Amino acid sequence: MKVLFVAPELPPYAKVGGLGDVVCALSKALRNLGIDARVFCPLYGGIFPSEDWQPHPSPLHICLGTTSSYGRLWETNHIETGVPVAFLEYNQYFERDGIYGPPDGGHSFGDNGERFTFFSRASIDYCHHINWLPNVIHCHDWTTGLLPSLLDADSLRTGWNPATVFTLHNMEHQGVFGVDVAEFAGINFIAQEPAPYLNFLSEGITRASALTTVSPTYAKEIQYAPGGCGLESLLKSRSKDLKGILNGIDLEAWDPFSDPSLPKRFSADDQAGKTFVKTTLQEEMNLPSGSDFPLFGVVSRFYSQKGLDLLAECLPKLLSKDPKAQFVILGSGDPAQEDTFQSLAKVYTSQVAVVTRFDERLARCIYGGSDFFIMPSRFEPCGLGQLYAMRYGSIPIARRTGGLVDTIKPIHKDSGTGILFDEPTSGALFDSLELALGLYNSSDLFQSIRKNAMSENFGWDISAGEYRSLYQKLTEAQP
Ligand code: ADP
Repeated sequence: MKVLFVAPELPPYAKVGGLGDVVCALSKALRNLGIDARVFCPLYGGIFPSEDWQPHPSPLHICLGTTSSYGRLWETNHIETGVPVAFLEYNQYFERDGIYGPPDGGHSFGDNGERFTFFSRASIDYCHHINWLPNVIHCHDWTTGLLPSLLDADSLRTGWNPATVFTLHNMEHQGVFGVDVAEFAGINFIAQEPAPYLNFLSEGITRASALTTVSPTYAKEIQYAPGGCGLESLLKSRSKDLKGILNGIDLEAWDPFSDPSLPKRFSADDQAGKTFVKTTLQEEMNLPSGSDFPLFGVVSRFYSQKGLDLLAECLPKLLSKDPKAQFVILGSGDPAQEDTFQSLAKVYTSQVAVVTRFDERLARCIYGGSDFFIMPSRFEPCGLGQLYAMRYGSIPIARRTGGLVDTIKPIHKDSGTGILFDEPTSGALFDSLELALGLYNSSDLFQSIRKNAMSENFGWDISAGEYRSLYQKLTEAQP
């Protein structure tokens, strides 16, 4: 079985959020199951081919609508997982900082429609070019939404007709463009009312052989408003082809017992090192250190979905009420939210530390050094932050939505792994933070819950098996 992942993110080369982590870890897990999984990704500015990368000897010819261009292919094995990866070099579209938009997070690139149409088309040409014709092309999110349509057109010409799986990582980002992009792509499309817009996500949902999303609860939520973000009826019409498969995490890449980013290693059975990681984090963030201070962590994109405005709203009250509570917040995105948190850090210097950049090392130290991890998401397709947090012994405090429901067990006596709340309000979050402070002060109970969280198994084994079954079912059904 041969499967090509076509994906806009692939850490450590290019990452904005969880999609990249999933592409990386799932492709590795599938190879462990004997599937020849490979990844196709753009060569963005800031990714530099190293000596062991192979430039493909001949240029890649990409034909789109009436245009014809040449790109360059770089082939390598993923630096951490060993999965074969092909990077598409095409400077006009990809040699710039940022994946979907400039790194300041403010807006998207104006030519994203053309960029990702081109990328999707190039992935098909790549398979022909190297004469490696996968059974399945696995597309990820709106950037690859046109791929099934482009492939249909290609199949008529070449006779190669692989199945397509379209994974919906987030319904909010749909890729909506004018008809000029459809002309550029050379496809017939389903016009969106009220104006004739081309919606990449709905194209993918309509045309892919099968749809998956990243948790069972999100699979239900998106078939209704507001979860479907306007595409709920379309999703309902494809309900029998839609499956929620829970994301896992790479247990080797995310292991507090071997993570080189942490100043000391620890595990569920030997938590002593976690105290040191916490103290080191407090010192790095210029906060008073020691176990007297309950430490709450955040690692997130700053975006309305993540509900961190609720945290900003209730923080002053909580900080005044409990002068020992500490917050370390790492995030970037919405400039207004960055300003709000930075202002709070200036006022509450001994309680709040804020870093507004993308920083993988610091993220890992926050998962490892915090006692609690906050995710007040308005919606959350799966969420990886809470999984990393639990594995690193930080008890999640999260809204009862999407994958957070499927992965966090509410605390009951000494069982459970985290605190869940219902309403997307600062009051409900405040109550949960107070509950967490109470838990922190009941040391034995706190330790039991932490151990429960750390002992959960969020590996990919089961979910990768579900993807394999899906691929098998689809290929058996292929004519
Ligand atoms: P989403 O994909 O919606 O952003 P997830 O919880 O699924 O949310 O995944 C977020 C991923 O991005 C996690 O791996 C998290 O550690 C990482 N991340 C988010 N913001 C930052 C940041 N500022 N620095 C480092 N890592 C970050």
